[in-house]
Amino acid sequence: MRVDVFTIFPELISGYASESILGRAHTSGLLDVRPIDIRNSTSDVHRTVDDSPFGGGAGMVMKPEPIFDAVEAADPPRPLFYLSPTGRRFDQTMANELAQLDGFSLLCGRYEGVDERVRTHLVDAEISIGDFVLAGGELAALMVIEATARLLPGVLGNNSSPDDESFADGLLEYPHYTRPASYREWDVPRVLRSGDHAKVARWRLAQSLIRTKENRPDLLDARGGMSPQEQALIDEFDLGPEGTT
Ligand code: SAM
Repeated sequence: MRVDVFTIFPELISGYASESILGRAHTSGLLDVRPIDIRNSTSDVHRTVDDSPFGGGAGMVMKPEPIFDAVEAADPPRPLFYLSPTGRRFDQTMANELAQLDGFSLLCGRYEGVDERVRTHLVDAEISIGDFVLAGGELAALMVIEATARLLPGVLGNNSSPDDESFADGLLEYPHYTRPASYREWDVPRVLRSGDHAKVARWRLAQSLIRTKENRPDLLDARGGMSPQEQALIDEFDLGPEGTT
C-alpha cells in the first residue's frame, strides 16, 4: 500500500513511520509511506506556503499554488483526503475501507487550514479524527495510516488479530491480564485461570458488553441494545458495576 502525505513537516511523518509496526511494514514491503514537502513546490526565496485571509480575521491560510503544484507533480494515489475537523469522522469502519485500497493520499493542513479551492478542486474528501482542533494534520495523518496499515494482511504478527479487538463487532474489547496472577493483592479473575475455554469466552463477551454499556452506550444502541441472552451472560458472572467478579 502506498500512502503519499503532503505536509510542511515531512520529518514528523517519516520519523514516526520508520519505527515500530509502520517501520516493519515498510521493511517487509507492505507499506510505502511517502512524505512530500509542500515547501519544495514554492517558487519564492522564503518558500512561503501561507498568506493572510481575504475578508480579514486572525490567522493565516495555506496558499493554493504550492499545494496544487506538489500534488500534480507527485501524481499521488487517489483518493486524496484533506485532514480537517470539518471532515467525515474517522473510525474503524473507515480504516477497514481504506485497508481495501492499493493506496491513498493525505493532505495535512496548518494555520487556519487550506484555501477553499484546494478543498473544492483538488482533494476527493475530508477526514476528521475527532471533535477537537489540532495545530496541524500530521498527527491525524499518522493515526489514519497506523489504524489502516495494521489491518493489512501480514502487518501484525501471527499472534494478533484485528478481528478480535474493540469495534470489530460493535463492542469494546474485554480486559486483559498477564503474570503475576496476584499483584499487590489484586488477583486475576479465577475464570481466566480455569482452563475452561468456553467459559473464558463467555466471560470475555460479558465483560465486553459491560464495558461498552458503561463507556460507549452509543455503540450498544447502534447494534440494537442488549439482547436477553447477553443480559443473561452478564448475570451468569454476576458482574458488578465495574465488571468485577
Ligand atoms: N480553522 C480550522 C477549523 O476551525 O476547522 C482548524 C485548522 S487547524 C488549527 C490546522 C490543521 O490541523 C487543519 O487544517 C487540519 O489539517 C489539522 N486538524 C486539526 N484538527 C483536526 C482534526 N480534528 N482532524 C483532522 N485534522 C485536523
